[in-house]
Amino acid sequence: MTDTNKEPIPIDVLVSGWYVVTMNESRDIIHRGSVAIQADKIIDVGKTVDLERRYAPKQRIGGDRFVVTPGMTNSHIHITGEPITRGYVPDDTPFEENVYQWLCPLYAVADAAEEKVSGQLASIEMLRSGTTSFLEAGTINFLDDVIEGLVDVGIRGRVGKWVWDLPPEPSVYRQTTDEAIGNLERQLSEHKSHADGRIGAWSIVVGHTTCSSPLWTAAKALAVEHDTGLGFHMSPAKADPDGFTEEFGQRPIERLFEEEILDSRCAITHCVHMSDHEIDLMAQAGVSVAHCPTTALKVSYGVTQIGKFPEMAQHGINVGIGTDGNNASNYSDLMRATYLVAGLFKDARTDPQMFPAEIAYEMATLNGAKALQMEGEIGALRPGYKADIVLHDTDRPEWRPLLNVMNQLVWSADGRGVHTVLVDGKVVVEAGRCQTIDEEKLWHDAQQMGEAITARSGLPDKAKFPTI
Ligand SMILES: [Zn+2]
Repeated sequence: MTDTNKEPIPIDVLVSGWYVVTMNESRDIIHRGSVAIQADKIIDVGKTVDLERRYAPKQRIGGDRFVVTPGMTNSHIHITGEPITRGYVPDDTPFEENVYQWLCPLYAVADAAEEKVSGQLASIEMLRSGTTSFLEAGTINFLDDVIEGLVDVGIRGRVGKWVWDLPPEPSVYRQTTDEAIGNLERQLSEHKSHADGRIGAWSIVVGHTTCSSPLWTAAKALAVEHDTGLGFHMSPAKADPDGFTEEFGQRPIERLFEEEILDSRCAITHCVHMSDHEIDLMAQAGVSVAHCPTTALKVSYGVTQIGKFPEMAQHGINVGIGTDGNNASNYSDLMRATYLVAGLFKDARTDPQMFPAEIAYEMATLNGAKALQMEGEIGALRPGYKADIVLHDTDRPEWRPLLNVMNQLVWSADGRGVHTVLVDGKVVVEAGRCQTIDEEKLWHDAQQMGEAITARSGLPDKAKFPTI
């Protein structure tokens, strides 16, 4: 059948490129391809010559120098507390000191306006480096203000308020079990969906060894009741399995499996110190894992020595990629983290199949979408999917010559080459700049607030070289 004689169909946007990386079922990369968009959805993907004949777009975006990809999903990021104090924590502190002596005090002293700016800073860094969706870590204190800021920026994300009921400090986060469950109930009833569902609350707990059994059970029940995911941290360092085993006589995943907390709703972050049995149970339960390679590198988790991400992938566990907090992983450019995912286990296992560029990129897109409970909606450029699209500018040294698109995307390029980004069919980044908010004001506010928060925290400046 030919459509040469038909009237072109009016559409909102036609995005065109040198190559279109679809991430569809057969992983087609379309040479001289285009993506047709109506409202917030992709309605067609194909050769530019065909789509130009078929559609009459109101707006054309892209051109011959662009590689067009789906927006990536950051499967684990702290958007408050750390973006706004980025880099203040020294890079030579052990895990426990890093979390309890540095991060908790910094989180504890930020106010609502500071958390809002922090969330916007994180979002803009993600959008400008090609990430259109994220799963937040459940460490927001002023959820209303932060959500307001995210809606203004135009990113897609799932967020949660700080919820734990065991650690007594810092006092600002001290919660009884009832208060912690109340916080989850409130965020799910008040913030389930904002901005056409782009921003919404999940059932998220901090995890580790910070939750009582009743809190775990309630968090799971609320996720089921509100049909959201359940996010938490587990086993980045030995302290989690050791602490769990001491308290409950079982390793964390064994206990959570037995208590029927684990299923395909769960997005578990880190999972570095895992037993083989725990991996079997995770595969059986169908959980997703957020692999955060940059944090592992900076906080010495032992990911390449102890981590079993190749085994998780072999067991069919859905592994996505996260960038975590900016004091344990100073950037939120998921392209740089994806590069590490492709490389770390190649070296650690002296096996080039751990992982090929294509598999690493699937983790950043399709697997992230699944972890976010949005499989079939984001992570690929296919008809019916959300129009979350990234255009990479190849008129840059690291992109030329362009001979193998996936190798270039994962091993050569990073977020600096991202030129244009659409979320829900709307342009949010153009020529590398965020279009939705005043960037200059944000840089200024972030600097002032970062200086104010670190001063208020009373934590020492540990920069080793003298500033003269
Ligand atoms: Zn985290």
